[in-house]
Amino acid sequence: MKAAVCREWGRIEIEEIDEPSPRAGEVKLRLEATGLCGTDRSILEGHLRPPLPIVLGHEGAGTVVEVGPGVSSLVPGDRVVCTIVVSCDRCYFCVRGEPGLCETNRLLTGTMLDGTTRLSRGGEPIHSLSYQASFAEFAVVPECPAVKLPPDTPQAEVAG
Ligand SMILES: [Zn+2]
Ligand SMILES: [Zn+2]
Repeated sequence: MKAAVCREWGRIEIEEIDEPSPRAGEVKLRLEATGLCGTDRSILEGHLRPPLPIVLGHEGAGTVVEVGPGVSSLVPGDRVVCTIVVSCDRCYFCVRGEPGLCETNRLLTGTMLDGTTRLSRGGEPIHSLSYQASFAEFAVVPECPAVKLPPDTPQAEVAG
């Protein structure tokens, strides 16, 4: 699939990388729209430094094409918008009803929640920004930040 990969600060290029597959608790989306946020720009300019290489983008919207084991709220064909709020339902903040402060929410590690990467190019790991990496044709994201949309919502209006 095509993805915009950042391999050095200040530079981003379209590359052909491997299409990702969802693992347990994850969904794969075909992206249809994405926002471009000030955080993406701060990373591109090197002010914030997640590990490289990385696919940026964390305000994507698209259609679910595959779900991993254990996913219960989404099925292929669902249209979703992705937030960056990941919650575990177990930590101090989640139990208090404040999932936006979840202790697992480490948005600049470049990995998925299990600490591994989902993107690659010929065996070379490529990181994902904020569990999402929406500057690509497909993304694998955890189930919880993918929010189901009514079927007639225009994607361009919800991304970003
Ligand atoms: Zn943002
Ligand atoms: Zn939590």
